[in-house]
Amino acid sequence: MEANLPLLDTTGVGDLVLLDPLSEESLLQNLKERFGHQEIYTYIGNVVISVNPYQPLPIYSPQTVEEYRNCNFFAVKPHIYAIADDAYHSLRDRDKDQCILITGESGAGKTEASKQVMSYVAAVCGKGEEVNQVKEQLLQSNPVLEAFGNAKTIRNDNSSRFGKYMDVEFDFKGEPLGGVISNYLLEKSRVVRHVKGERNFHIFYQLLAGGSDQLLRALKLERDCRRYGYLGQEDRSLPGVDDAANFRAIQEAMKVIGFSPAEVRALLEVTAVVLKLGNVQLDSQFQASGMESSSIQDTRAVREICELIRLPEHVLEQALCSRTVEAKQEKVVTALSVAQGCYGRDALAKNIYNRLFNWLVTRINESIKVDSSERRKVMGVLDIYGFEIFQKNSFEQFVINYCNEKLQQAFILLTLKEEQEEYVREGIQWTPVDFFDNSIICSLIEDSKVGILAMLDEECLRPGLVTEETFLAKLSQVFASHKHYESRATQNARHVTDASLAGPCFRVHHYAGKVTYNVSGFVEKNNDLLFRDLSQAMWKAQHELLRSLFPEGDPQKTSLRRPPTAGSQFKASVATLMKNLYSKNPNYIRCIKPNDNKEPGVFTDGLVQMQVRYLGLLENVRVRRAGYAYRQGYEPCLERYKMLCKQTWPKWKGGARDGVQALLTDLRVPPGELAYGHTKIFIRTPRTLFDLEDRRRLRV
Ligand code: ADP
Ligand code: MG
Repeated sequence: MEANLPLLDTTGVGDLVLLDPLSEESLLQNLKERFGHQEIYTYIGNVVISVNPYQPLPIYSPQTVEEYRNCNFFAVKPHIYAIADDAYHSLRDRDKDQCILITGESGAGKTEASKQVMSYVAAVCGKGEEVNQVKEQLLQSNPVLEAFGNAKTIRNDNSSRFGKYMDVEFDFKGEPLGGVISNYLLEKSRVVRHVKGERNFHIFYQLLAGGSDQLLRALKLERDCRRYGYLGQEDRSLPGVDDAANFRAIQEAMKVIGFSPAEVRALLEVTAVVLKLGNVQLDSQFQASGMESSSIQDTRAVREICELIRLPEHVLEQALCSRTVEAKQEKVVTALSVAQGCYGRDALAKNIYNRLFNWLVTRINESIKVDSSERRKVMGVLDIYGFEIFQKNSFEQFVINYCNEKLQQAFILLTLKEEQEEYVREGIQWTPVDFFDNSIICSLIEDSKVGILAMLDEECLRPGLVTEETFLAKLSQVFASHKHYESRATQNARHVTDASLAGPCFRVHHYAGKVTYNVSGFVEKNNDLLFRDLSQAMWKAQHELLRSLFPEGDPQKTSLRRPPTAGSQFKASVATLMKNLYSKNPNYIRCIKPNDNKEPGVFTDGLVQMQVRYLGLLENVRVRRAGYAYRQGYEPCLERYKMLCKQTWPKWKGGARDGVQALLTDLRVPPGELAYGHTKIFIRTPRTLFDLEDRRRLRV
């Protein structure tokens, strides 16, 4: 896809590749001007920048779909539909698998963008009853996953708390056959804790508000969400959101996807169990030895959970209050303190919910998977958390930012590769251009021996007392002279002081900026351990679904191999994702949040500037302009400018390439500005193009 000529006539420039002069300031100004005119989309070549309007705009109607369908890319305004259309046509007609990568910070509009892409593609990709059923299943997976994976946060009332990648598969005619969904790192801590002003996952409120009396009775639930510890005490309803209606919608959606009533019931039972776990109160009691231990005073929650999952009460009770340690072939049962008991209970709730979510994805995949073995064309859509810099950054931000570092790497490599391929195709000399290569940061994190993740694993697996301080000390020793690593220790050695690096922290210089990570919690979060007694108790339940979530609870499974750490699991899934992306033609949508108050029409300069930096947009434009800022086929080029030259006006008799050459020579465009490809003319700097445009305007 190329720079868009008619866009020069609209508000600002529609393609930042043509921005002149190019600077962060001019880039921001251009976005702002367009946003002010409700032009929320701007290109960088085939990258779309989307600024969240925070208001419904009349630009997603079926008429708009028609307008962009088979449109001439150059004849219409920048729009997410144009990218979707282009991707779909390259897939269908040029047999190139596509991926659409959507990034941006929370609330920037990623999930909305992914839905718009999906619904556009669904609207244009064939019809008929069978095809429509596939489309429905694919589209309906969304509300179900959102119910279980999204929550209200301060930044976004419908914030996705997981990363999602969906491959949609098409046959040779371009009709959809089905798909595969992958999910990344659900924020499971939200199950047991959320900050004031936020909510737990939507499903809990939806179930309580929308479940029939009969259903709630069967699940032993009360309608009032204030009864549940994990849901907090505040008013939980959201303005403009009808939890009850949404519950009915997801029940309908599950039906469309193909869930049986029994499966839906089992799913909701497990959901209810999670909710009830939060009401299990552990109290301390003193044993004869004088040791403190925990016990369960009010047994109602435990009783109800056990009734739901068909498990003898004492099994759960014991697993919650004590721990079995195997030493020298002997089993020793020790009582847990109240703090340990609560920790175990919360770990259980988080684990059940996380595994339930994975089950849900697997179950949806079963329904939408493609059985036929015919060759398929694939379009992947990635909706994943963007770069995060908070006041306090922990393990979660660390892995999320690692993922973004990998995406940036993919972006640079793929874009340069694509440029390079085009030059080769067009027979043009390619001069490599220097760009910041972030591989060094990727390997700082992921190197299998001396990467931060590997070193964290090593700490976690080390027997004996594991502390975060020793982990930090080791990092600082190994990376003492690493350009992208900093800590108090390395600063001391380098004789720098920086008050902001106080506490047990290290700092990584990411491509998008410096982030300070606090190591407390790293070991625990990476270990992600569940007391064995609890997984064994779950496995003993007669509830088929719940039991299937805890295969390691089977005492026959003697292998005591520890499950992979959270960090290495994440690293592996990022690697799979990257492999998948590298095999496809990428299309980027980069979302920007214009203000922190979800307000329409407000563009906060500083906030946008920060995101422009995180997203590396300036770099983005530079990569796009690596060789030539602009390119166009000979024929349209001749058509547009032939009036500027006597030889070509009104009609050129020879071939288009010769015509363009005659024209540009006559206009005395410096030869260094131009390259003649097999089918296209390449222009190095935007200025040259603007000159042509100006001359044309004077003529018209
Ligand atoms: P993200 O997934 O990046 O966190 P969302 O896609 O959930 O953000 O968007 C947050 C909110 O912003 C949406 O719920 C919606 O209200 C609004 N929004 C996002 N994109 C658009 C759009 N293109 N048009 C109108 N409103 C939008
Ligand atoms: Mg989202």
